[in-house]
Amino acid sequence: MRYLSTRGQDAPCTSANCIVKGLASDGGLYVPESIPVLSPDELKAVASGSYIDSANLILSKFLTDFTSDELSECVKGAYGSGGFDSANPAPLHKASDGVYYLELWHGPTCAFKDMALQLTPRLMVKSLKKTGTDKKTMVVVATSGDTGKAALEGFCDVDGTAIAVFYPKGGVSEVQERQMVSQKGGNISVAGIIGNFDDAQRSVKELFAGKVFVKKASDAGWTLSSANSINWGRLVPQIVYYVTTSLKVVENNPQSTAVDFVVPTGNFGNILAAYYAKKMGAPVGRLYCASNRNDVLTRFIKTGRYDTKREFIKTASPSMDILVSSNLERLLYEILGHKANGVKGFMSELSETGVYQVSDDMLGEINKDFCADACSDEDTFEEIRRVFDESGYLIDTHTAVASAVAHRIKVQKGSGTRGASDAGESPATPLVVVSTASPFKFSGDVLFALSGERLDGFSALTKLSELSSLPIPKQLSGLENAPILHDNVVKREEIADFVESLL
Ligand SMILES: *Cc1c(COP(=O)(O)O)cnc(C)c1O
Repeated sequence: MRYLSTRGQDAPCTSANCIVKGLASDGGLYVPESIPVLSPDELKAVASGSYIDSANLILSKFLTDFTSDELSECVKGAYGSGGFDSANPAPLHKASDGVYYLELWHGPTCAFKDMALQLTPRLMVKSLKKTGTDKKTMVVVATSGDTGKAALEGFCDVDGTAIAVFYPKGGVSEVQERQMVSQKGGNISVAGIIGNFDDAQRSVKELFAGKVFVKKASDAGWTLSSANSINWGRLVPQIVYYVTTSLKVVENNPQSTAVDFVVPTGNFGNILAAYYAKKMGAPVGRLYCASNRNDVLTRFIKTGRYDTKREFIKTASPSMDILVSSNLERLLYEILGHKANGVKGFMSELSETGVYQVSDDMLGEINKDFCADACSDEDTFEEIRRVFDESGYLIDTHTAVASAVAHRIKVQKGSGTRGASDAGESPATPLVVVSTASPFKFSGDVLFALSGERLDGFSALTKLSELSSLPIPKQLSGLENAPILHDNVVKREEIADFVESLL
């Protein structure tokens, strides 16, 4: 399987190459030349197999330059060696109203980023070997809060790599910040930036595209790479849980042929993995993109106009506070039938004017798979309360955005106000809310939603545990006393200098 850049200017390369590079040098994202389709026998094997076996099979379809031994070593290391707190890293919870919650936060940092970032560094080490480089890799990460810690955990003391994480100072939860700035490890740097996630992501992308900087790094013995979902090695592990979950839910609901997912969305990476799973032949129905008040994606999916010229809002779901969702570029590429020139045109428009508009035909294509809806913080808090009151189940602020959207879908279908048949599906199509973080990671806001009480994030951990009768996850207990090892704060334009000082 060869990988191409969505902007068409880079030579095709192997998966190892695209994992090492992270971003194509023309500024585009790497995508597989075609999406592999699973045979009925393979789907059957996944339906009855373990998570690890399924991951091996699905990854082998995309990472064709890896041997099966290499893949299984990586997969076993990621999901089989105790990083996750249960044998199935992606368990399903069924709430009393029949909605499923896919819990993707049982890994070392209590957010879904671990599902990929326990694996990506392992794939990166193998990829570095395969490409035969004698250079070390500097992984540069822009984070809206959760990727940073998950990448630090994944790359901590990994031979031949160093990692630099930039998070928006004041734009992440207290628990998230302390998780990052207390990270130990000899190859690690963390800095707050003055600005928001979009500023951080743009600066990092500019770093990759800056020929002078890349040359400087190379002369010093380093290549740059990324652990954001712009890196294919980060995206591909996320396809696995959509294939396994959709098969499992269909098996448990024999009257249904497909499963709808509602995904709390920021950079469009998680929901895009669901799209790839569907194209591989998994029984995935509609994909509901759930946004917070930064609802650029929701508006795009409804109108075809992507408009970033608006105020950036800080919300109670900070990991989704994003206006420029990088992975949408990969979807445009698929929708355009792999016409890189078209993608390039939209991306130039976006960087020049902050806006682009796709044709009605393209929007129609997108709406075959995607629907969208958005929530305010008030909706989010109310949903946390509703779910806890009705079924005793505790969800975090990001999951609540998706859960609120799922609840609206259920209510609409139930009352028939929006004819389910219009949408071409039966009211019985099971709904899976993708649960992306432990409620304890956003303890301050979750506690506020339930009790109206405002405490700092650490006091809220204890209070939330009392109120819910759930233990504080061991990954987060004691965090309050973890020493702060990284206290750098840099301006957006200082990111390059900061990284250079690490080379
Ligand atoms: C990253 C993140 C999201 C958004 O995922 P994308 O892949 O960026 O769309 C949602 N919820 C949580 C908790 C996250 O950490």
